[in-house]
Amino acid sequence: MKIPSSVCVYCGASSRVADIHKQAAHALGDGLGRRGIRLVYGGGRVGLMGIVADAALAAGGEVVGIIPEHIQSAEVEHTGLTELHVVDSMHTRKRMMAEQSDAFVVLPGGLGTLDEAFEILTWRQLQLHDKPILIADVDGYWRPLLALIDHMVAEGFARIDRSRLYRVVDHIDDVFTALEEQPDPAVPIQPRKL
Ligand code: AMP
Repeated sequence: MKIPSSVCVYCGASSRVADIHKQAAHALGDGLGRRGIRLVYGGGRVGLMGIVADAALAAGGEVVGIIPEHIQSAEVEHTGLTELHVVDSMHTRKRMMAEQSDAFVVLPGGLGTLDEAFEILTWRQLQLHDKPILIADVDGYWRPLLALIDHMVAEGFARIDRSRLYRVVDHIDDVFTALEEQPDPAVPIQPRKL
């Protein structure tokens, strides 16, 4: 795949996390900005979300934030972004984030990150899109989740080819190599069906 022009990052809104996760968020935002890849994210200033956005902007990148009206104050919308879209619901946010991006990176996060990651994974499983999805397993954070997915497959609840559905990278540097190695999407995202 040619390097994507827009990458969506899903990540935690909590700031009370280990430095290694904050450093990963910074490295990802910085790497996107330096490469001229537009960051699409949830639009907040808090936690890893704020760190990734600030790093991308500081590196000269464009950042698009999409935030639902009712959590604007809780997540403190970022006022220095290239574009900030205030939308009516979580669903609209997720649909717009997906439509505006060529690939997805899942950094460590909580329930919100899981919701976003699983929606984009299941949409891909349902062939609603075939944009690359990378799981950044920073410091082994996602290991229990990856083990759960293996368990689902072993127990017959999921019949997925994991290597086709998503790719796991251990370091942020590997995100960019992995994106280049992905095949170009053949199925355009189908907004009406999302
Ligand atoms: P968390 O991983 O819980 O720290 O949340 C990360 C981001 O996911 C935050 O911006 C949350 O607002 C967002 N989020 C939480 N639940 C949802 C949802 N159902 N749909 C879309 N975004 C969500």
